[in-house]
Amino acid sequence: MYIVHIASELAPIAKVGGLADVVYGLAKATAAEGHQVEIILPKYDSIRYPLLQNLQPHFRDLWSFDGPYPCHNTVWSAKSDGLNLLLLEPHHTNYLFGRGRIYGCNDDVDRFIYFSRACLEYLFKSGKKPDIIHLHDWPTALIAPLYKEMYIPLGFSAGGIVLTIHNMEHQGKCAPANISRAGLRGEEYLAAEKMQDPSHPLLINLLKGGIVYSDALTTVSPTYEKEVLSEGGSSLAPLLKKQKIKGILNGIDSNYWNSSSDPLLSYHFGSENFFRGKAVNKTELRKRLGMKESAGPLVAAIARLVPQKAPELIESALLHTLEKEGQFVLIGTSPIPEIDKHFRALQKQLSRNKNAAFFLEYDEALSHLAFAAADMVVIPSHFEPCGLTQMIALRYGAVPIARATGGLLDTVFDVDDPKVSQEKKNGFLFEAPTAEELSKTLDRAFAYFKNQGKWELLVAQGMKQDYSWAKSTSAYIDIYKKFSNPKMVLAI
Ligand code: ADP
Repeated sequence: MYIVHIASELAPIAKVGGLADVVYGLAKATAAEGHQVEIILPKYDSIRYPLLQNLQPHFRDLWSFDGPYPCHNTVWSAKSDGLNLLLLEPHHTNYLFGRGRIYGCNDDVDRFIYFSRACLEYLFKSGKKPDIIHLHDWPTALIAPLYKEMYIPLGFSAGGIVLTIHNMEHQGKCAPANISRAGLRGEEYLAAEKMQDPSHPLLINLLKGGIVYSDALTTVSPTYEKEVLSEGGSSLAPLLKKQKIKGILNGIDSNYWNSSSDPLLSYHFGSENFFRGKAVNKTELRKRLGMKESAGPLVAAIARLVPQKAPELIESALLHTLEKEGQFVLIGTSPIPEIDKHFRALQKQLSRNKNAAFFLEYDEALSHLAFAAADMVVIPSHFEPCGLTQMIALRYGAVPIARATGGLLDTVFDVDDPKVSQEKKNGFLFEAPTAEELSKTLDRAFAYFKNQGKWELLVAQGMKQDYSWAKSTSAYIDIYKKFSNPKMVLAI
C-alpha cells in the first residue's frame, strides 16, 4: 500500500509531544512491513536540520491559494532515520512556518489551514495516488472535507482518509472566513451535519470536519475511546458515537527507545544488569544537573507543563519526594507564561537543594538520560489519551507512578491490585487527582523500593513487557486495507 501521513509533528526532527513519536513509530513500523510510506510536514525553520539527509527541492513551483491569492511554494524531499519526508515551504509573506516554533502563534489555525490545502494541491498536481491519506489531530483534519468537497470533484482520488485523534482538547475552532481562505465557502459549512461547532454555533470546528468527512477514525487507546464517547467526553461525543471510532493503543519505537543501544546514552543496560545501568546513568545525570549522590529513590517527571499534565501535582510530588529524602528531576516546558514563571520561581527557591533539579527546556538527549537514571517516573495527568512516557519509562527500568486515566490505565498495572495477574504488574496507580492520593502512592512506591528483591523483580518485569508497535501496526493495517482494496470497501 502507498500511505501518506500528513502531520504537524514528527520525532525527532519536529517534536512537541507524543503525536510526533506516534507518526514516527507508526510510519517506521508500516514501512518495515513493506508498505510505501511518506510523511508530509511543514518546512518549519525549527526543524532539526542536521538530522535530515538528502534535503533537496522536489517540486519547485507548487502554486496553491490563500483566499483568492495564488501563493508559491516549494516542496522539498528528505530522509530522516530512513523515513521519506516531503517538506512544504510556502513562500508566503507571513512566514507561516518561519516562527521558531511549531504551535503557539495567534494565527495557528490559518497556518495549518494553508498547509492542509497546499498538501492536497501538491498530491493532486504531482499525480500521486495514495491508497491512504492519514491525518493527525486538528491541524490537518481539514484535509478530509477539502478532499471530499473540492479535490474529488477536480478528479483527484485516494483510496481512503484515516483520521487519528491524539487529543480532543484542541479542536481548531475558527470563523467560517478562516476556511474560506482554503477555498471552501465557510458559511455553507456552518451546519450541524458539516463543520459547525456543537457548543459555539457561529464557529467552525476543524476536528469535527475531519470526523465527519474521514473514512475511518481512530484514537490512541481503548480507554480514551470510551472516554471520548462518554457524555463528559466533549461536545463531539454524540457525533463520534455515530461515526464509529476505534481505540488502538500507541506503541513506542523499540529501536529508538532501547536502553541497551540508545546512542544518546553513554552507558547501556538491559533487564539483566539494570542495577548497574541505573547507578552509572544516575551519576551522569546528577553530575550534569549539579545534584549530589544519594541512596534515596530518584523520581523524574518529563512532560509538557500544561493543565492536562497536572503541574500542581507534579510540584506536590516533587516536594513530597524531597521530604521523604528522595531526589527529583523535572524536565518540562510550558507554553503558558504563568506556569512557566511559577516553575522558574520554584527552581530559584530550591536552587541550593542538591536533591532537586529543574530543566525547563526541551532536550531530547537529557530526557533519555533521565529515563535511564530514574527509579520512578511520575505521571499524574488529569487526562491522558495514551501517554508515551510511561511506556518509555518501563523500557528504561523506571517504574511509572500514574493517575488511573486514559491510556495510562491500559498500560500501567498496580502492584497491589488483586485483579491484575502477577506478570502484568509494573507500577503504581492512583485514582483521585489530589496531592494526598499522590503522596500516599509515592509512599507505597518508596516502601517497595526499599525492598531490593521485590524492586528488582518489578523493574525487570516492566523492562521485558512489550509496548512496541507490533500489535498496533496490524490494527492500523487492517483499517488501511479496507480502503485500499475497492472490493472490501463494498463489503463494509
Ligand atoms: P504528550 O503527547 O501529551 O506531550 P506523551 O506522554 O504522549 O505526552 O509524550 C510526551 C513525549 O514528549 C515523550 O516522548 C517525552 O519524553 C517527551 N517530552 C516532553 N517534554 C520534554 C522535554 N522538555 N524534553 C524532552 N522530551 C520531552
